Amino acid sequence: MKNFVWGILLISIIIGCKMKENADLIIVNSKAYTVDSLFSVQTAIAVRDGKIMETGSDEDILGKYKSDNVIDLAGFPLYPGFNDAHCHITGLGMGLGRVDLRGATSYKEVLERLVKRHKESSPSYLEGDGWNQTLWEEGDDFPDNKELSRLFPDIPVILYRIDYHAVIVNDAAIRALGIYPGDKSIPDGEAIMQNGTFKGVFLENTAERFRQVLPVPDKNEYSRLLLAAQQECFRNGLTSISHAGEDAEVIEVMEELNASGELKLRTDIWLTPNQATLSKYSQPFSRGRIRIGTIKLFADGALGSRGALMIEPYSDMPQTKGIPVIGANEFDSLCRWAAEREFQVAIHCIGDAANRFALDTYAKYLDEGNDLRWRIEHAQIIAPGDLEKFGKYRIVPSIQPTHATSDMLWADERIGDRLRNAYMYKELLDQLGWIPSGTDFPVEQVNPLYTFFAAVSRRNLDMVPQGGFQMENALSREEALRSMTIWAAKASFEEALKGSLEPGKYADFVVLDKDIMTLDEDSIPAVKVLKTFVNGELVYSN
Ligand SMILES: [Zn+2]
Repeated sequence: MKNFVWGILLISIIIGCKMKENADLIIVNSKAYTVDSLFSVQTAIAVRDGKIMETGSDEDILGKYKSDNVIDLAGFPLYPGFNDAHCHITGLGMGLGRVDLRGATSYKEVLERLVKRHKESSPSYLEGDGWNQTLWEEGDDFPDNKELSRLFPDIPVILYRIDYHAVIVNDAAIRALGIYPGDKSIPDGEAIMQNGTFKGVFLENTAERFRQVLPVPDKNEYSRLLLAAQQECFRNGLTSISHAGEDAEVIEVMEELNASGELKLRTDIWLTPNQATLSKYSQPFSRGRIRIGTIKLFADGALGSRGALMIEPYSDMPQTKGIPVIGANEFDSLCRWAAEREFQVAIHCIGDAANRFALDTYAKYLDEGNDLRWRIEHAQIIAPGDLEKFGKYRIVPSIQPTHATSDMLWADERIGDRLRNAYMYKELLDQLGWIPSGTDFPVEQVNPLYTFFAAVSRRNLDMVPQGGFQMENALSREEALRSMTIWAAKASFEEALKGSLEPGKYADFVVLDKDIMTLDEDSIPAVKVLKTFVNGELVYSN
């Protein structure tokens, strides 16, 4: 009898070994937050053909699967790949090409950084950003552009101040724009003068005009920018994004990168509605790493510049209520276009009047209990009584937690007591029971851990204010993690494909050097990405 039992056992071990399934990749010895419905934690994952076969304990997974590629993570934490639910990848790419002038301690150093870039790549123009003359040893007067024009006599050079409200430009840039001293097109005070000539420093609208002198990138340039931005995403642990508005020309480049396999970042591209996009993309689709099924609209502008549309006037400028960006008829007809084609609508709304306008217009097209997932981007200031409309019409509020911590120190000047109706992330979450989050990069930094930190701690990176800003609207760590993984996926109808580590979903995950679910809060912003995997492929390793 004893021999018989041993025999059976031996046979089952042999069968067991033979029956081990092949995996392309096995991860063991990790602390893997699956972000499934139970928020369960496992140690091992088996991957094949870009998808998760199974998660479980090391014993389970190594008992059932074998692979030539087994990675022991030595206990490091692993999460579903992060998904930025609202950002601008093209803008990120364009910014990456600029010479970074942040932290320069003299104007001389600014010029040296420009010369270095020029030697490396001999570009047809130079753009830089981040200079701050208050840090310069020459003193905090604006410099003149003589040396800049001497160093770069032929190509336009445009250098944005750290707040983007001023530029230093060379004479070639001024010539290209075609302005001259005394030019009536320059509002008072926007050109700094020196002995009757331009000093080379311009402010506000005139500063903004200099962008016109730069060449519009061609297709090759766009693909170079997009791939650089993609790598920046991987470096930050992002494996998916929603790209909030694009024209047909750039979407075409993205489609080419998708077809060639170079686009690896899962990219949900929203259409900027115009003749070209709406005629070309009249049906939602997913192909490879691209999904198209959303149009992007704007109801108003930004709060900082008093462009946000308010029901009552601004507290610090009682003659204005902001600037409407879309008319009711146009908004209505685009909603109809979307409803007829099963597209999502996503509309930028900052002010309480903008949010009310969007909620009430959406309500005409959305039945109670619908699952069309029309979105309001930012959903920043919501008048009392309007909040419930999100729940009633199943409208998705799409939030950027770092906007709260960027704006909180000055927003009360603009809106006074109405600040208590702003950045209400927890109350918005409670409307549907889920909420997607993002950064709106390059407006904010790419790093999704800053989103996580801002959502949870409601403080900026200087750890201000103590105790956090309007903490009743903080998210829990689990909610914050869900908002940047499974809920972000849900906001683009992709929750069955990604956003959690479950069998059949894409093997998209990120390994961090510390566990953001248990780490002391103040240390979260310094957490580093160690590895990023998309479709089971290692796309970034630190
Ligand atoms: Zn945006």
